[in-house]
Amino acid sequence: MSLIMPDDFGNTPKKELKIPKGMSKLLMQVCCAPCCGAVLECFKYHNISPTLFFYNPNIHPKDEYEKRRDELIELANLLGFDYIIPEYDPKPWFAKVKGLEKEPERGARCSVCFGDRMLATATYAKEHGFSHFTTTLATSRWKNKKQVDAAGFAASEATGVPYWSEDWRKEGLVTRRYQLVKEFNFYNQLYCGCIFSRDNGAYQKDAPATIKNIAFPVENAQVHNLSAEALRPQVAAATETDPDAKDIAFDLKEDMRCRC
Ligand code: SF4
Repeated sequence: MSLIMPDDFGNTPKKELKIPKGMSKLLMQVCCAPCCGAVLECFKYHNISPTLFFYNPNIHPKDEYEKRRDELIELANLLGFDYIIPEYDPKPWFAKVKGLEKEPERGARCSVCFGDRMLATATYAKEHGFSHFTTTLATSRWKNKKQVDAAGFAASEATGVPYWSEDWRKEGLVTRRYQLVKEFNFYNQLYCGCIFSRDNGAYQKDAPATIKNIAFPVENAQVHNLSAEALRPQVAAATETDPDAKDIAFDLKEDMRCRC
């Protein structure tokens, strides 16, 4: 793995950022390097130095976890951000999502998954003197930001550490994300992270009939040898479950460069 520093790194489109009052030390849960690129560029521009917390026991199998972890470490070193890598132990995560294996993406299993990762982040923040915590979990067009925020605010309530809920997709950040994913030459993740998101096609079969007519170029689906028919329900489900992101268009060729 070898990342390439983009020539134009620093050129964030998000020139204004509402920094939470009283924020002195920020812990940011990070799921992978592709989800971090545009956010870390924005932080650099605004002179904010979060510590990156790579807590992701959901990622499976282990070699996939290691690929994502090692790329995150390489990115953090390249950009000069501190990072923390807790021990990888997926067993408790599997116990928490037991019975939810067939849930669709953005369903009940994901709420448990986000809840686990947000609570671990908030707990670490509390124990190590961070004033706030946040996450990259909703930087992707595939995620439901409200669902991620619900987990963040619940973890905040449980620990007393404020959760910074920023929309890292608006104001051009999704487009910038696409550019940086290519320019850094990030590893191409083909599924969200857990083994069920890799292997479970239930959300495709169960997708509501109303979404059948969403149009997107078939050649984009072919990037990963997926048929347009297989992808259409996923796109529609993502759009339907996150109305807040309706104005952020899907660009499947780009969105499939990181399916996280
Ligand atoms: S699909 Fe993604 S967010 Fe949902 S449970 Fe699996 S890893 Fe977690």
